[in-house]
Amino acid sequence: MSKLYRLSLLIICGFIVQFFASTSRSENQIRNTRLEKEWLKSGDFTNPVALSLETSSIYQSIAVDEKEFTHTLSLTFIMLRNSDWTEESVREQLTRIAVVYLQCGIKISGAELIIVDSPLAQKSVDVSWVGRDDELIAKATPRSSHKNVRVFLFRSEADSMKHDMKRKFAYAYYPKDNFGWDPLDNTVWISSIADDILRKSYSSDYSSLAHEVTHILCKCGHIDSEEKNLMNKISYYLNGDLTPKQCEQIKRSKFLNSTSIWTLSPPLENETDRHR
Ligand SMILES: [Zn+2]
Repeated sequence: MSKLYRLSLLIICGFIVQFFASTSRSENQIRNTRLEKEWLKSGDFTNPVALSLETSSIYQSIAVDEKEFTHTLSLTFIMLRNSDWTEESVREQLTRIAVVYLQCGIKISGAELIIVDSPLAQKSVDVSWVGRDDELIAKATPRSSHKNVRVFLFRSEADSMKHDMKRKFAYAYYPKDNFGWDPLDNTVWISSIADDILRKSYSSDYSSLAHEVTHILCKCGHIDSEEKNLMNKISYYLNGDLTPKQCEQIKRSKFLNSTSIWTLSPPLENETDRHR
């Protein structure tokens, strides 16, 4: 092969790679602009900024074999501006949940992040356990965002040392029954201090996001056992492990997509109590 021929082949390949990279970049931009318009149209959220958190950045530091993934999960994060969260800390959360769900063969296939001003009075960002603040925010979200589990990122002024029962670091709502629609259904609420406090007390591989999202996906509460796992009732037994049964329950969730067209699991019939 002549040098000139090889050089021209390289240039052509370079153009093709660049073309596809810029196509996906502009697709993301179009999607994000559409999202921002939707959130603005909802009337309650001002200055929305939409960002796409790519899979490649989530799995940068994790060794994975693509063949092991049987399901994918996409998440929508709603970050209240001035809640002490950053794009970087959301990426950290995504990496942690990706590590936990790797045990079940579930891949985080990407996430959208919407940064908005809180629609509450004085743009308050500490919504934990305060009347119906969380409900007001969840209700205001555009319907199109309900296709995913919605993860709200807020600030909690709860004091971990005082066992402040009125405030929470992290909690989730999963539907109790199929009667009617509740705006809080399938929402997760995580404060910027949750992981720092909870991982220090439990185990370094524990993830508040994975714990709360699992409540919604498996439609289950806590487990009373001496086997350490992500959903244990007793904090001493909490860590980042998921049992095979938990993986099976999670994979039946309507929020997951199967990577194979041949394995369609029916959704679970029985739903349990709402969890906070
Ligand atoms: Zn819980």
